[in-house]
Amino acid sequence: MGYRSDEVASIIRDAITSHRLLPGDKLVEREIVESLGVSRVVARQSLIRLSEEGLVKWQTNKGASVALPELGEVVALFDALIMIERAIIEKAADYVHTEAWADLRRHADNELCLKHDHPVSAADFHLKLAAMVQNQFISDFYDRLNKKAVLLAAVYGQAKSGRLLMHDHARILDLIEAGRIDEAKNLAERHQGEILRGYTLKEVREHSGLRSLGDILRDTTPTHQDAPASDS
Ligand SMILES: [Zn+2]
Ligand SMILES: [Zn+2]
Repeated sequence: MGYRSDEVASIIRDAITSHRLLPGDKLVEREIVESLGVSRVVARQSLIRLSEEGLVKWQTNKGASVALPELGEVVALFDALIMIERAIIEKAADYVHTEAWADLRRHADNELCLKHDHPVSAADFHLKLAAMVQNQFISDFYDRLNKKAVLLAAVYGQAKSGRLLMHDHARILDLIEAGRIDEAKNLAERHQGEILRGYTLKEVREHSGLRSLGDILRDTTPTHQDAPASDS
């Protein structure tokens, strides 16, 4: 029994997010066909699916490879996050006495007791902050930017520990409560800047070396989780 294209996509996605396949690595259809025992059509469908998610890049005559986002794209993404977050903070000041605010405060306080990395497990705070201003368009847009940031984190890894960044969350709320809105905005901007530096200062990882694509895929156990929503 062969794999379906969504299962093949899942195997390749796992190999990318676990850094066994690195940005720039070629994804040769024939090797996928031979190592996983699937048809060429299934191999191609899985690559199309991954390119829609932004994980794989197609080049005419060169075929598919693991996508390598340019630094300019990463910077533009964080610029957009900062601009929209400054606007959200301006508006959030109107919600200080609401139940949603109390919930966000509890979330930020809980985070200080936990040890987890930023932004993959900490995006919750930012999404809750965005949701508080009760504008579906802003929430949707912010959610989309965040999904993209999570994808970049999976591909590039995250050099910086989230511990200090978690303190920023509670501090941003303190400043908004105190009516110091400009300071809250500036802290949020520094906060996103720190996350961005985590990417550009990423540790240099060992390349998967001489292992062939086929060997890597054969060793990657399939999972059946849902694919992340595509950005298109
Ligand atoms: Zn944060
Ligand atoms: Zn959290």
